[in-house]
Amino acid sequence: MSILRLFMELIKPLTRKKEAELDPFAGINMSTPEDVDAQTCLTDYRKCDCFNEYYIWENRFDGVESDKDLARMKNTPMVWPETAFHVDPPSQSQRAWDIACEIIDITAKKDVKELNLGKIMDRHDYMALNTLPETIGECKALERLVLYGSNISSIPREISGCVSLKAFEPYTSYRLHWFPYEMTKCRHLSNSCISTRALYGNYKIRPPFPNLSIHRWEWPTGKCYCSVCGGEAACMEQYWTTQPVAADVIPLLVSVCSNACLEKIGDSPKDYIKRPHRGGLQIEQPEAI
Ligand SMILES: [Zn+2]
Ligand SMILES: [Zn+2]
Repeated sequence: MSILRLFMELIKPLTRKKEAELDPFAGINMSTPEDVDAQTCLTDYRKCDCFNEYYIWENRFDGVESDKDLARMKNTPMVWPETAFHVDPPSQSQRAWDIACEIIDITAKKDVKELNLGKIMDRHDYMALNTLPETIGECKALERLVLYGSNISSIPREISGCVSLKAFEPYTSYRLHWFPYEMTKCRHLSNSCISTRALYGNYKIRPPFPNLSIHRWEWPTGKCYCSVCGGEAACMEQYWTTQPVAADVIPLLVSVCSNACLEKIGDSPKDYIKRPHRGGLQIEQPEAI
């Protein structure tokens, strides 16, 4: 049985009608500016402002006509500001969070193999989610996880519990700039579809990594365990590394209990900062390609 049918049978009463699939503006009065904003949210994949400086720089030639100005602007270097994590509640609405938890619960209990969250949830609810429930790690049979066009900005490290995961597709989730190192523990993961330009340190535009000496990432569970050995410790250091995961090379946040665990992290591929680092503007990245 497909999860869509399971969902319809088991938790449909929790959700609004599925009219949004037929008409995304159903029920919305578009006569006020606020409603026009709502319309934009429904039709466009929402981006954040994190890399805005780059896009302004990239479009610096727009409207410039004189050769002199063009030549001058051609030599204008890109100056990145510091970047910082999105610090969001798990969801903008309790209802959306409850529904997501129920769906993950069903996925785990019924050994569902493929989950496309955006197809199951009402679009309003789907766009209210900023992360996934940590119970995603209980989905032992899950082979394919699709999160197209979501607003998700972090993936729980419990994703490592998805031992059957073969395909991970958060494509066009433009607020998703990094992943937990624990993703490297999904041994069967071989397919991925990720929006590269949204990632910290990506080879196309090289956005800086948040400075971990200033912005430590707080996992919601509050437990301190090492991403490498799994051991618990009172104090954990966080680092960035960039590693191949499935079909992509992605930035990973790693928590380590000791230098010994830090040393166990492999070198990054050639066009990335070789060893784990703490991020920030002072870290020099290779040139954009
Ligand atoms: Zn962002
Ligand atoms: Zn360790």
